Amino acid sequence: MKAVQYREIGGRPEVVTIPVPVIGAGEVLLKVTAAGVCHSDEFVMSLPAEAYTLPLPLTLGHEGAGIVAAIGEGVTAVKVGDPVAVYGPWGCGHCIRCAQGKENYCLNAATEGIRPPGLGAPGAMAEYMVVNNERHLVPLGDLDPALNVALTDAGLTPYHAIKTSLPKLGAGSTAVVIGTGGLGHVAIQILRAISGATVVALDINDEKLELARKVGAHHALLSNADAVAAVRELTGGRGADAVFDFVGMQATVDLGAQMAASEADMQIVGIGGGALKVGFGHVPYDMAVRAPYWGSRSELIEVLELARTGALHVEVQTFSIDDAPKAYELLHEGKISGRAVILPNG
Ligand code: NAD
Ligand code: ZN
Repeated sequence: MKAVQYREIGGRPEVVTIPVPVIGAGEVLLKVTAAGVCHSDEFVMSLPAEAYTLPLPLTLGHEGAGIVAAIGEGVTAVKVGDPVAVYGPWGCGHCIRCAQGKENYCLNAATEGIRPPGLGAPGAMAEYMVVNNERHLVPLGDLDPALNVALTDAGLTPYHAIKTSLPKLGAGSTAVVIGTGGLGHVAIQILRAISGATVVALDINDEKLELARKVGAHHALLSNADAVAAVRELTGGRGADAVFDFVGMQATVDLGAQMAASEADMQIVGIGGGALKVGFGHVPYDMAVRAPYWGSRSELIEVLELARTGALHVEVQTFSIDDAPKAYELLHEGKISGRAVILPNG
């Protein structure tokens, strides 16, 4: 079968031919219908050898959807032919966090060497993939896989962040979304669907700002120092009640903190390496700073339910598996609007 792999440090993704995987007891084989292209893959592929910890070659793709092609002994929750989405942040399944469905914060994943598909385990950017446990599958039903696969990360990650800030996002509040790419453009729609906040989107790219307006941002502004004054003006001086930073570089983290209100939440989701000095006098009074990771299994079920209501429309550019390297190049150049999605089986 064809697979898209990162094969050597400093290299670019390549399409290779590898054997169709064989499943064991408790595992599920998926014929992959769609796999999303996330900026985190670019981050992983930018790491120097001393910082790179994942196995090589690495089959990419941590956003996956497919049709169940085979089930291992003991699998009862899905049957051959079922359309499913993959819950990516795999955990051990038995610690307190996993028991709560929060496998993204599993207490044992690091020590037991459990890795998400595409970020350690072989991922979804292949004709077939192995899912290690049936609990990592959520029924997709009649949701189109190409249009919804990105909800497994670009939907789930913002949903998780936004849910924890919901108590601060009632009517009259303001939420800022920095970076309106794959995650950010879904975040805007989630905020519109489940909060009362006025949504202000910031990006450095005019086309991304256009997309932000199209998907429901009340205001879309260039991400620069002027945006601080603009957000203050829009909020009568108070500032934003929550800032969701989907870039996470020093410049955006600083910008977010400068436009935040007292008691605001600052959520650093992007992995751009920026950091905030938190302490009395350094940030607005009682501001909470968080650095969330992905989301829980129940939140993925909720995101897919939200999509079923028609509230979420992922802007998608589709590519064949042979063109996956091209999709990564376009993402690298900032030329993907919304999410690039690979269709490994056409
Ligand atoms: P993307 O490339 O699709 O979108 C990034 C957007 O940010 C683009 O629209 C780009 O124009 C914009 N941007 C770049 N620099 C900017 C700046 N200075 N100010 C404002 N906007 C700027 O990326 P994505 O796939 O949506 O991922 C976003 C970030 O989230 C990445 O850092 C990714 O690694 C990270 N991520 C984190 C998690 C997590 O669990 N914490 C999960 C998935 C992705
Ligand atoms: Zn991702």
